[in-house]
Amino acid sequence: MNDSDTMLTATRKSAMPSRFQPTASRRTPPMFLATAHATGLAVLGIDFGDLALILRTHVHSDHFGNTAGVAQRARCPVSYHLADQSLADRGDNGPLQGIGLRGRLLARLFGHLSFDPVAADVTAADGMRLDDFGVAGTVLHTPGHTAGSIALILDSGDAIVGDTLMGGYAGRAVFPTRPNFHSFADDLPAAMESLDKVLAATRGTLFVGHGGPLCHEDVARWRATHGADVRSSPHPPGDPANLSSGGSCWS
Ligand SMILES: [Zn+2]
Ligand SMILES: [Zn+2]
Repeated sequence: MNDSDTMLTATRKSAMPSRFQPTASRRTPPMFLATAHATGLAVLGIDFGDLALILRTHVHSDHFGNTAGVAQRARCPVSYHLADQSLADRGDNGPLQGIGLRGRLLARLFGHLSFDPVAADVTAADGMRLDDFGVAGTVLHTPGHTAGSIALILDSGDAIVGDTLMGGYAGRAVFPTRPNFHSFADDLPAAMESLDKVLAATRGTLFVGHGGPLCHEDVARWRATHGADVRSSPHPPGDPANLSSGGSCWS
């Protein structure tokens, strides 16, 4: 698991500097994808004090683990979906459900990793608009990876989708722009249904927590042959053939 993050970062002022606006660039993620580390923010030229909201796509240690420290420095509200509340209260990944052999092996490594519990100041409910935090976008509840997973659907047609799916294998190391099942899902059929909701609500770039970014067209093509019925999929989770398609938008 790498340390990619889907933290929302926005200025407190309504007038966001243009460089902070979501970009249509294929390879440059929007500012929201900045990691919560000081170095990640510094690259974007923003300070912790500029943050208006810390929005987590879900409560797993690699996306949520530094929330307490960031919130303390930024002094801004924390938001996540309440279906992940029990994970946040315990400060524990829980028993991860591995997808395929690789996922089951990784689940033994990353299950039950702990982090500091954090209460939500703002509930990231389905349909919540983020205009008040300087972002033209809407929260979409996308259960499956975890019960409280969400995507941030930007009005631009792009989206930040967390771990509903991922790009390639091993973060950015192997075919990062090719859609792939994530290694873990509490409920994989639900995650695929959530992916359908994301596809219906977007048309551009999908920023995933690991690997990517992914092109809508590639994900739609991948989805057409993967996981309609997960158990009868021609390429079940863990099959290397899952990587045989996609990536065309970046080539
Ligand atoms: Zn996760
Ligand atoms: Zn993750």
